[in-house]
Amino acid sequence: MSETKIMTDIISSSAQELEFDKPNRIRVSEIFGPTIQGEGALIGQPTVFVRTGGCDYRCDWCDSMHAVDIKYRHDWTAMTAQQVFAEIEDLTGGKPLMVSLSGGNPAIQNLAPLIALGQQQGYRFALETQGSISQTWFADLNVLTLSPKPPSSTMTTDWSLFDECLAMAQNKPELAMKIVIFDDLDYQYAREAAERYPELPLYLQPGNHKIDGASDARGLHDRLLWLTEKVTNDRWFTVTVLPQLHVVLWGNQRGV
Ligand code: SF4
Repeated sequence: MSETKIMTDIISSSAQELEFDKPNRIRVSEIFGPTIQGEGALIGQPTVFVRTGGCDYRCDWCDSMHAVDIKYRHDWTAMTAQQVFAEIEDLTGGKPLMVSLSGGNPAIQNLAPLIALGQQQGYRFALETQGSISQTWFADLNVLTLSPKPPSSTMTTDWSLFDECLAMAQNKPELAMKIVIFDDLDYQYAREAAERYPELPLYLQPGNHKIDGASDARGLHDRLLWLTEKVTNDRWFTVTVLPQLHVVLWGNQRGV
């Protein structure tokens, strides 16, 4: 790399950092859609995704590292709520739709202005987060999915932080819990989470190994079958088992 190119990168990098540091900026990794929600309580429903940049976790099997690792920050954009909403409206043709706020961990950003702006125009907002960071604006959401990470992620759940997320939501949004399952330990973790939060509808989905741009179709099928049999053999009738619909349709491609 030439010295000129290195200097240009340094200058543009610091300019970008300054943008990120401005108040009321959202770090956006990607905005895409309309597509369908591929997971959890809203599976199959049309939506637009806003994927924010940055996460306080490093799950071993994360399939969204481009929205997690700071080394991808050059691909992120510092946007105001107005700019994000303008892009959403562009994608939907101005027709109100469910907006899925994803990441990374979208809870590390201030998304209150975006939610308020969109709801004024008839949009609804669903957010998914692991439950490690709580925000007062959780109560403004239409749907809040908490997705604590099981042992296979190598992360440790702090249930007191999870409880704070629920407290912030004040039972105002529709609530759900979603857990990815790779193995028996994960399954046991999900059983314990279900006992701890019997009031939360629980969605289980088989884990998706990291295979860039391709689908581990055989592995996903086998894990879904294993999980389904395990749930039914255990007479666990209060849980919903789902595949990741977008992975069935498009493999691990980004932006669909
Ligand atoms: Fe990836 Fe989600 Fe884990 Fe963050 S919490 S590292 S986005 S899987």
